[in-house]
Amino acid sequence: MDGSDRSFADNFFDQAPAGLLSTDVEGVVRVANSTLLGWIGRTAEDVVGQLRFSDFLSVAGRTFFETHLSPMLRLDRGFREVALTLMGPDNTRLDVLVTAAADADAIQFVVFEARQRRVYERELAALREVAETRSSWLRQVEGLASIGAWSIDLDTKEMTWSDQVFILHDLPIGALPTTGEALLFYLEEDRERVRRHLAQTRATGLPFRFDAGLVTAKGRLRYVRATGELERWGGRPKRLVGVVQDVTEQHEAELQLWRSAHIDGLSGIPNRTLFQKRLREMIGAAGATGSVALLLLDLDGFKEVNDTRGHDAGDEVLRSVAGRLRALFPELDCARLGGDEFAILLANTEDRSAVEARAEAILNAVRRGVPFCGDWLYVSGSIGIAYYPFDAATAEDLLRFADLALYAAKRSGRARTSSYSPNIGAQFTARRGAIEMVREAGLAGGIVPAFQPCLDLADGRELGCEALVRLRTGGGELVGPSAFWAAMSDPESLRIIDERMLILVTEQMAIWRQAGKDPGIVALNASEHTFNGGDYARTVLDRLEQLALPPSSLRIEVTETVFLGENSQAVEAAIAELARAGVSIALDDFGTGHASLIHLRDYPIDWIKIDRSFVSGMSLVGRSGTIVKAMIDLAHALDIKVVAEGIETEDQRDFLRGAGCDAGQGFLFSAGTPVAASTGGRPRPA
Ligand code: C2E
Ligand code: CA
Ligand code: CA
Repeated sequence: MDGSDRSFADNFFDQAPAGLLSTDVEGVVRVANSTLLGWIGRTAEDVVGQLRFSDFLSVAGRTFFETHLSPMLRLDRGFREVALTLMGPDNTRLDVLVTAAADADAIQFVVFEARQRRVYERELAALREVAETRSSWLRQVEGLASIGAWSIDLDTKEMTWSDQVFILHDLPIGALPTTGEALLFYLEEDRERVRRHLAQTRATGLPFRFDAGLVTAKGRLRYVRATGELERWGGRPKRLVGVVQDVTEQHEAELQLWRSAHIDGLSGIPNRTLFQKRLREMIGAAGATGSVALLLLDLDGFKEVNDTRGHDAGDEVLRSVAGRLRALFPELDCARLGGDEFAILLANTEDRSAVEARAEAILNAVRRGVPFCGDWLYVSGSIGIAYYPFDAATAEDLLRFADLALYAAKRSGRARTSSYSPNIGAQFTARRGAIEMVREAGLAGGIVPAFQPCLDLADGRELGCEALVRLRTGGGELVGPSAFWAAMSDPESLRIIDERMLILVTEQMAIWRQAGKDPGIVALNASEHTFNGGDYARTVLDRLEQLALPPSSLRIEVTETVFLGENSQAVEAAIAELARAGVSIALDDFGTGHASLIHLRDYPIDWIKIDRSFVSGMSLVGRSGTIVKAMIDLAHALDIKVVAEGIETEDQRDFLRGAGCDAGQGFLFSAGTPVAASTGGRPRPA
């Protein structure tokens, strides 16, 4: 049947079943798509060995003594190709182009040439050249995309890697590790996941895809994306095959993006966004049975560091506090919420004393000096704590209540911890009410000055008066600060009051002047916050000029705390300017602060006002009396006059007069009274 002039190839075509050239012939070698990937970078011999051509050859009805398989693979345009050359016994050959569409399950064999061996030599050389070029292209593509191909034989556990996989591991090409060793390249935290992916694909036949971190043989950290699938031979799982790609740069870009959205750039710890996520997560995890404590930390004295030592110093403090928090708590459980405010989350906080101990540890860590430019920076901190689910059932409320507790800690003297209690909540509600009351009165013209006379203690002559703020309530009555006391520590409320009082009191002074009445020196109280907002001295002096009032007709009363605040330099400057212009300055509530002596020496103070607490506690022979006497002597030695406030009894007045006190105020003489509209002026004793 095979004529001598008929070539092997002719026979081949004759004998081959009709379906041979199509995709799906029983008994013909079928190669899964993934196998082609597995061929990348391997020798023809390897591949041929694996392909088990026996079926193919038997279909052809002949035995081939030689096979050549080009290492070429074309991966472009969605096709993969490999050329096979089968040599027949009669020196003929069969060139087969194996083509697989990228999305096909099996490849298609296309016999594209069958000719005599004579032609073969030359042809093969050309074919090799093409193959070589293509495979070098492929290597380039692999290299450029940092993609490598791998396979694991499920029976033998033997792996194959393309060059790029070795490069990715920083291994010499060919230095193939065992599968167990290969797994060790992955980061410890990723290893189990990688193992699981492989096992699952093997068990289910479903492809996998994962990203994982990997430390190369040279110790470099890389991130890879691996995909793989199961290859079956004869229905039996045979190999896991896939590709692995170096996605470090992409990973780092993504990480960078994530970091910039979730990590505070200055301190390197989570920011408010991440903190809020964490808080919700922890509350979710705690559920109905667990617990979470939220600690809010706010630095005391931070603004001072910023103002006096510069922003670099402030930044250093923030960084160091963040670092100390990170040393005390899991990194993700602390955060910088902004400014000098930090948050710490604790889970399972049944034992409150343990939580408080941790808060104490934070405060201690914050108090430690921060080295800066060969010097030390010092701040302290206050902490507010609220507990889920005891204090609050939601993340929002927990944050709000911890904030209230923090506020309470600050108010009760800073550098301490305070836990939320309903009492704090009530205080806060009262405060909000008081602030609202001041704001509304400010808008509705409900701020009214009352005037309390100040008398010369020697002869009872009226020297002037102090203006005290009163608010008109909805019912029309006037109430003093005790009715809105909580607002008297609110900066905005104090600014509203002082601004309004300056206008109303000077207006009243002008009315008195026009009516030919001299009220003496009128004293105005000014809070620290009033000095902080804008140019207070200028505002006061402009107002006096506008109404043609002599500066000497006004006195500004400040407490020594204004000098201790974060803006003390601005306060000093304003006071100096007022004093230069002729406004007299009184130091209010004298004796209750700490820096009194220093202030007496350094500032242009004309008067001190001995605090009511000394006067009311004073007996003729008691300690208070001695202290008051000493204060008066000290002030006089510094050429400063003394007024005692809160004089309620004649005994007190007599003692003070005897001690040389210059002036006095108090209910004994008169309480503060508003000016009656009809009289247009406070009656002044002769
Ligand atoms: P202060 O400046 O020490 O004012 C004296 C306070 O003592 C006034 O209370 C006055 O009514 C009260 N007082 C006067 N004589 C006696 C007395 O004999 N016995 C007793 N027990 N109290 C007496 P008031 O008006 O309730 O003001 C309280 C505080 O509110 C003031 O203390 C001052 O710190 C602040 N304040 C009042 N008006 C203003 C204002 O316009 N601006 C600012 N920033 N603070 C103000
Ligand atoms: Ca006062
Ligand atoms: Ca006072």
